Amino acid sequence: MARLDKLYIGTNTKMYKTGAQTAAFLDRLGQNTADLAREALELFVIPSFTSLETAARHAAAAGISLGAQNMGWEDEGPFTGEISPLMLKEVGVKVVEIGHSERRHGLGETDEQENLKTRCALRHGFTPLLCVGETGDQKEAGISDEILRIQLKIGLRGVTAEQAGGLWIAYEPVWAIGASGVPASREYAEERHQAIRRVLVELFGEDAGGAAPILYGGSVNRQNAPELIAMPAVDGLFIGRAAWDADNFNRIIRDVVPLWKGK
Ligand code: PEP
Repeated sequence: MARLDKLYIGTNTKMYKTGAQTAAFLDRLGQNTADLAREALELFVIPSFTSLETAARHAAAAGISLGAQNMGWEDEGPFTGEISPLMLKEVGVKVVEIGHSERRHGLGETDEQENLKTRCALRHGFTPLLCVGETGDQKEAGISDEILRIQLKIGLRGVTAEQAGGLWIAYEPVWAIGASGVPASREYAEERHQAIRRVLVELFGEDAGGAAPILYGGSVNRQNAPELIAMPAVDGLFIGRAAWDADNFNRIIRDVVPLWKGK
């Protein structure tokens, strides 16, 4: 199995923070983390669309990769309200978040649509961050791994082993996300990460399937971040609320960086 040589940590700021607020956040996060070598740390921030152009300058100066929260799968056309890959490229986006639970479950996105977006992102040289995760009902029914398998097998349909090295996966159980969420236990997260890895290896083989980082997201905070990152199959953290204050995010990063020994 390929060894992952970086720790992946990032945040999606959802529909919070204006451009000015995002710039201030990035500046503060950059100052806070300036001494942490980026060779071993992939730090990324995914702000609102209207922040991206400003954010690109501030993120680059801070050694932070920039992401977009969504993307249309056509280059251009009569798709009112969609943002094309060409537009994201123009403003310097690297990562494209695909299939966050709020888009799947709040806005009705399907696995087939996530697949179109993932393939489009890869075609345009972005890093797709494909989010997968089961609902509370699916967990109770004991079908979490089956759901993850479906989301991955449809979401990654048509992706080649060569492209698979450019993927990031976020495991975000729907029941763990947001203010009413309960974080997954480290054991539960580890089992699901292992299940996801098995599907990636089945799809792309040992090397390519082992190369894509799998990040855990869902009510990560300063208390549970160290125990989650210590799990062998957890390659990084995708954090919401607890990361939106740059000082708190910095504390979490500093807590987990020493625990990273490479996997
Ligand atoms: C998320 O929405 O992707 C997320 C992980 O949020 P939170 O950490 O706030 O649960």
